[in-house]
Amino acid sequence: MIYLQNFINGKWIGAESKESREILNPATGEVIAHAADGDVADAQAAIGAARKAFDSGDWSELAATDRAAYLYKIADKLEENAEEISRLETLDNGKPLRETQFDVADAVACFRYYAGMVSKPDGITYQVSDPMQAMVVREPVGVCGLIVPWNYPLLMAVWKIAPALAAGNTIVFKPSEITPVTAKWLFEIIEQVGVPAGVANMVMGPGKTVGNEIAESHDVDKVSFTGGTATGRNIMKAAAGNIKKISLELGGKSPNIIFADADFEAAVDYALFGIYAGAGQVCSAGSRLLVEDSIYDRFVEELADRAQKIRVGPGNDPETEMGPLVSREHMEKVLGYIEIGKEEGAKLLCGGRQLKENGLEKGYFVEPTIFVDTKPDMRIVREEIFGPVLVIQRFKDEADAVRLANDTDYGLAAGVFTNDGAKAMRVIKKIRAGITWINCYHPTYNEAPWGGYKQSGIGRGLGTYGYEEFTEVKQININLEVEPTGWFSN
Ligand code: NDP
Repeated sequence: MIYLQNFINGKWIGAESKESREILNPATGEVIAHAADGDVADAQAAIGAARKAFDSGDWSELAATDRAAYLYKIADKLEENAEEISRLETLDNGKPLRETQFDVADAVACFRYYAGMVSKPDGITYQVSDPMQAMVVREPVGVCGLIVPWNYPLLMAVWKIAPALAAGNTIVFKPSEITPVTAKWLFEIIEQVGVPAGVANMVMGPGKTVGNEIAESHDVDKVSFTGGTATGRNIMKAAAGNIKKISLELGGKSPNIIFADADFEAAVDYALFGIYAGAGQVCSAGSRLLVEDSIYDRFVEELADRAQKIRVGPGNDPETEMGPLVSREHMEKVLGYIEIGKEEGAKLLCGGRQLKENGLEKGYFVEPTIFVDTKPDMRIVREEIFGPVLVIQRFKDEADAVRLANDTDYGLAAGVFTNDGAKAMRVIKKIRAGITWINCYHPTYNEAPWGGYKQSGIGRGLGTYGYEEFTEVKQININLEVEPTGWFSN
């Protein structure tokens, strides 16, 4: 059994209320851990510690190369423990080991990427009129609240923690209350490498108390959030009190467009990968597949055939290709959407059931599901289901594809498959989304900005963009001839 405590001001402590919560394995429903169930008091203690640590300057004023050295050490220790951390991530979140191994490797690379960035040239100088010199420097924002969801528990944490610490901020991190296990390992590593007490704090507990306190507190200068759009809206309101800086990475209903001239096999393969990787619990999932009329029947038939062959099972079984959903509550939400789709008149082409055979009955497994004969105003076409449910739309030409693709409140991601390079670029340029792919789906890089248009969020994570989100910009104007202005005569 694993016991998880909060990490506040360099100490591991239980919730002030002494309450704890059970953490379940989504493949079996079994209890794998007990986690401190923090609330507002715990969040305030962590915010206080982070505030004090920031104001002391012990971290923000440390030489950039020294901060980088800590980040490199964290990366090394994560790498040394990669096997165990992937195993625990699979146990907690449910996704197959091959996915969690990839996530941990990506987390290691992310720490190294931001460690490298801190020591690169920074700032700008301007040629202004003599005798002045103007320059711009970047400084840390201050205390940053980092709130993440359950779909990539470790990786989402690292996408925020690495740039925030690299830039000299102190942090209060809140994992999802469903998946806090690997955060404990990450914070143990942060402790082991000697990051000063109070710089990095973690509080477990519900979003409506712990998360809301982080978003509301006037001692927090910035909140960086990944999760649902409805929660993002609440965070914006809570953050308004002290005009906190906010970065929001929210949901999506991303179109994946297949033209008739695409490489057929590659397009089928990526359409499956786009929706069923992570069992569809991926913000950028290609959850709306748009297929051109002339190949529609053949494409959809092949897709359904292959979707039904996906091996669904526990993540720790090496044969498994798709794991369970993260919780019973979430599985019921996804199954609810499948019922809504049927009631709306869409045709269920395959899947649609909870899988209970072959030892899966205690877990939260849902079949790879496909709906066809959909209409643009159906809820299953418009709302983020966040599960292994693909809705297919048919289009007649390029203009129709672009119109359907953009007919959404979201704007996170999009894919286009065609062997006509000019057409691919024309379409991508017209799509209102922040992350796009041509002839592939899902690859992401620490170097490139991650985030969305429209209701998919504000700001960008990763790359130089993600680093800048954790900095303030200051202009410094220097007088090179120090003498009175003479503006006033007396
Ligand atoms: P939420 O947006 O509810 O949760 C994400 C994080 O925010 C969690 O840590 C959560 O805490 C916290 N939180 C919840 N309410 C507040 C609040 N008022 N103030 C501050 N923090 C808060 O996502 P869910 O996990 O519940 O999933 C709901 C839906 O969101 C999914 O079905 C999916 O559609 C979407 N989603 C999108 C993701 C993305 O990457 N874009 C990722 C995950 C979900 P708690 O521990 O209580 O959950």
